[in-house]
Amino acid sequence: MSDLIKLLPDSVANQIAAGEVIQRPASVVKELVENAIDAKASEVIVNIVDAGRTSIQIIDNGTGMSETDARLSFERHSTSKLRNIDDLFALNTMGFRGEALASIASVSQVELKTKREEDELGIEIRIAGSNIEIQEPVSCSKGTNFQIKNLFFNVPARRKFLKTDGTEFRHILEEFQRVALTNTDISFKLYHNKTEVFNLPKSVLRQRIVNVFGKNLNASLISIENVTDIVEIKGFIGKPDSARKNRGRQYFFVNNRYMRHPYFYRAVMDAYKNILPPETIPSFFIYLYVKPESIDINIHPTKTEIKFEEEKFIYQLLHVTIKQALGRFNIMPSIDFDVNTDFEIPVATKDTIIAPPKVNYDPSYSPFNSSSNSASKKSYDDFFKKDDTKDWEKLFTEENTEKPTELFNEEFIPTDLIVFAGKYGMFSNSDKLTIINLKSALYRINFELFKGSLLNSKSNAQKIMFQDEIELTVDNYLIINEMYDHLSVIGFDFKEVKANTIEVISVPGEIENIDIPKLIENLIEDYKLFEGDIKDNIDNIIAKSIAKSTIRNKQFDVNSARYTITELYKTKEPSYTPDGKLIIKNMEKNQIDNLFL
Ligand code: ADP
Ligand code: MG
Repeated sequence: MSDLIKLLPDSVANQIAAGEVIQRPASVVKELVENAIDAKASEVIVNIVDAGRTSIQIIDNGTGMSETDARLSFERHSTSKLRNIDDLFALNTMGFRGEALASIASVSQVELKTKREEDELGIEIRIAGSNIEIQEPVSCSKGTNFQIKNLFFNVPARRKFLKTDGTEFRHILEEFQRVALTNTDISFKLYHNKTEVFNLPKSVLRQRIVNVFGKNLNASLISIENVTDIVEIKGFIGKPDSARKNRGRQYFFVNNRYMRHPYFYRAVMDAYKNILPPETIPSFFIYLYVKPESIDINIHPTKTEIKFEEEKFIYQLLHVTIKQALGRFNIMPSIDFDVNTDFEIPVATKDTIIAPPKVNYDPSYSPFNSSSNSASKKSYDDFFKKDDTKDWEKLFTEENTEKPTELFNEEFIPTDLIVFAGKYGMFSNSDKLTIINLKSALYRINFELFKGSLLNSKSNAQKIMFQDEIELTVDNYLIINEMYDHLSVIGFDFKEVKANTIEVISVPGEIENIDIPKLIENLIEDYKLFEGDIKDNIDNIIAKSIAKSTIRNKQFDVNSARYTITELYKTKEPSYTPDGKLIIKNMEKNQIDNLFL
């Protein structure tokens, strides 16, 4: 029998490596931008078409490559950054395994043009699926220009595996932002389908953070700094009152490399303990600098976790540094201690007054009976008429008060309804006491209302008279666009007034007096939180989010409580909120007896 073992052809070996290194268009962007930085570029342009599916182009003004280097750069384990194993521990460059280009070239069509300062002519190389197609001189400017076309063209299973353009582009943004946040002395531009998404000039860190995440962030940044022999801590943390629900604005970097670090994360969160509004997570941009040999160098190219020699010490120092910074801010909040403010940023500190949310109930409306849905038949003008009959008090006069008892006399008769603390409805029924969490009840009611509208594609738009301009960050703008089809079904409409800035033109007719910018912000945050949760579909996310916005700061009196309870019993699942929290609590007589034993 002949020998069986064969060496894999390079192209196959590279494709296998690509499976690890290049998972999606964003990985290509990361690798190529990092190469540009390693090549000492001061300007990097990223040009994306169709979320990277069609083309990813990275242009830099760095060192460029000689003809031989350009050709060699596509070989596996070809790198100019690592000579022997000792180098591994003293590395300051981003990439070092020499795998990225070989991998990329094995799963795409690559066009490279590159020229060094000293060369008169540059070199052009075209490769498709690891096969060299062209290698010839070309006239081009100093630096390197990579274009990656039709990623995974020869690996259909991977191409099919890619998510929607919106999702893939957000992955690209994430990589781009991480790199931009650590290389403030480099100017970056990002285009998507010829539209400029980012134009980040060289700047100080604070300015860079603000350029990436929006000028609203500026007012909430507190600088931190602590230098010791073991570690240098720098960066910014968010003021507690600016904390958000999402984790999107939380960045750790070590030696200018993005990392995740659950242990240090705890040090930060502990420092914020007891000063954060409930259910919020603060923003932070924390930069650690340590001796390269004191960390377990990130051998795996896609891994973002790193081990530190002095983990305990860094934990403590981080904790103390943040606590001090927060203390400083708490004692004298009006004075800005930040040293790094040698630039002017107009800050939008418009105090949005949060109007108490009020749900516009049409008493004859029932989500289960489309013929009685008069709310949706209201004309445009009706919405701007002061409609007195909408007041809670009027809802329960005469014929309205009759309805609940008629309909539900078997379920309950809340004649002696008591409202406790503005949020609990209590009534007794034969031998039990029923306590209803009214906010939760309203949450359930409105959730089903919006869910029903989404399922039945029932548009019930209400125009908005005074529109707020809502400036969004690039990624949040993309999320709103992703949700647009669903939102428009229930009556939302937006207008783009300028790049990443929208005006809400209409909202669902069922909501009234709601802080719309806040509602949009919550929608986006909830989408980010639940997006990865396959159990929850987008309709659920939207219905929950809007329903939640309608109950914020809600206070109940007897009449609104009665109405809410009546509506609650018409819902499909009156006992629990969409998040699984209890709404109704029954206490048997003997349970109450037991309280007094
Ligand atoms: P690594 O970055 O790990 O060395 P890569 O496959 O990403 O491996 O790149 C291989 C080599 O190609 C690099 O070491 C570098 O010498 C060269 N190279 C890649 N991109 C550029 C660029 N934009 N400018 C100059 N040289 C580059
Ligand atoms: Mg590299």
